[in-house]
Amino acid sequence: MTRDARRVVVLGGGVTGLTTCYRLLQASKEQNLFTEVHLIEASHRLGGVIETEITDGVLMEKGPDCFLTSKPEGVELCEELGLGGELIGTNERYRRSFVLRGDELLPVPEGYYLLAPYRIGPFMMTPIFSPLGKLRMAMDVLMPRKKGDADESLADFVRRRFGREALERMAQPMVAGIYSADPERLSLKATMPQFHEIEREHRSLILGLRKRMQRRGSGEGVSASGPRYGLFVSFARGMGVLVDALAEKISGAMVRTGCRAESLERNEGGWRVHLQGGEKVDTDAVCVTLPPSAAGRMLERVSPPLSEELMSIPSGSLATFNLVYRAEQVANPLHAMGFVVPAMENKTLLACSFSSTKFAGRAPEGKLLIRAFAGGEAASRAGLADDELVRKLLEELRLILGISGEPEASVFYRYEESLPHYLVGHLDKVGRIEDELKAAPGLALAGNAYCGVGIPDCIKSANDAAEKISGDLRAVNSREKRGQ
Ligand SMILES: Cc1cc2nc3c(=O)[nH]c(=O)nc-3n(C[C@H](O)[C@H](O)[C@H](O)COP(=O)(O)OP(=O)(O)OC[C@H]3O[C@@H](n4cnc5c(N)ncnc54)[C@H](O)[C@@H]3O)c2cc1C
Repeated sequence: MTRDARRVVVLGGGVTGLTTCYRLLQASKEQNLFTEVHLIEASHRLGGVIETEITDGVLMEKGPDCFLTSKPEGVELCEELGLGGELIGTNERYRRSFVLRGDELLPVPEGYYLLAPYRIGPFMMTPIFSPLGKLRMAMDVLMPRKKGDADESLADFVRRRFGREALERMAQPMVAGIYSADPERLSLKATMPQFHEIEREHRSLILGLRKRMQRRGSGEGVSASGPRYGLFVSFARGMGVLVDALAEKISGAMVRTGCRAESLERNEGGWRVHLQGGEKVDTDAVCVTLPPSAAGRMLERVSPPLSEELMSIPSGSLATFNLVYRAEQVANPLHAMGFVVPAMENKTLLACSFSSTKFAGRAPEGKLLIRAFAGGEAASRAGLADDELVRKLLEELRLILGISGEPEASVFYRYEESLPHYLVGHLDKVGRIEDELKAAPGLALAGNAYCGVGIPDCIKSANDAAEKISGDLRAVNSREKRGQ
């Protein structure tokens, strides 16, 4: 290390922290910044919520199982890491999903995108909605656009445009399947801005979506139902390869696992990170990639307003349950990507992925891999004990999918307070956080609490954070050169 080396400490070793380190090391090399990068991770492994387990030829994802290609940062990073050739798409034959109604799985009609239909024929035929419910939804084509530009909840938006049934039967379970959160509280602008934009541009959601889909003319767009599964990719060897590749690329960084950061304060010309056990690390810059509540606690001494903003971003818990069955144990053919469960069905199950249908190579011939999700109260340890939650999920799956006997293998995992909820007004909050950060050179925040919870969003936030820190370090270097 040269005498001029600048030190950066990155807190949190999930995909955001790993990508930030990778970008900082790249910038250091390209811009002659001579940066010494430290990564501090509380748990004993890297990757955060990304973790793949392979047992007896079955590939189980404990956390995320794929990411979107429509946001370029994910695929771009994979290409750079030499993982482009490992990316696999979803099974083209079964790019559709179901929604539970009573004890029946009903197909999401073709041409129904998350909150709204854009093809009339399949929508008219679906038994998911009542005739009156459909009539109310169709009124979208006549309704005026909302006055003003204020944010509103996803639920208010769907009720306003399509009525209560559209919300309860389709939008709520779709939104819960993605965000594990209540659409009554989630911000439309921060979570699904595309729908806000369509209303502004086209007035009617149905007509606007139709135009957009026609313009896109994508093969998958016409036949897809529910989420656009043609845009999802994973890795042949599971999501863990992304973590492994990043960990390899940052071999130039000083990585410490099993080490919790406790607080941050300014010191002369830089920052001081307090670690558990009383150790202190002085540094020129810090990037905090922790969940928002942990980030808020870290920053209590640096800026109370910033800390409060962060602490007021709530996070939801999720539980995932991977289950392996012999094919003959499951009556349902699993010819889809999975299903979602409306809250009005009063189940513990939030959603279920048919993992061995969704991606090739997840289970050996003759075996099926299913992944069940629970969210909300039930998924948090304060809600249901592990054995109670597992029992309920097994019982519900047994009835819905016609399963007989016990699973051959299973992996149950809880992610406590791990998915931030973007409440109404979230974008204003992010604006205030960004303003606070402007007054704190050498400090950056990144992760899933700000501008998107998906993996590509986290990668983008890491890219931006590394750029901010590199810029701040360059500014310090040039000030020193000028002798100021
Ligand atoms: C179950 C589940 C399924 C998901 N599915 C998908 C999906 O299919 N596709 C998709 O795009 N996204 C998905 N997401 C979202 C996405 O995976 C996450 O938003 C993203 O991986 C978060 O990465 P991160 O690095 O920002 O945070 P994390 O992965 O949460 O990493 C934060 C790290 O900080 C560490 N830490 C916490 N406190 C401290 C401290 N005080 N000191 C030091 N270290 C600390 C933690 O141990 C952790 O390793 C899913 C999320 C979950 C929970």
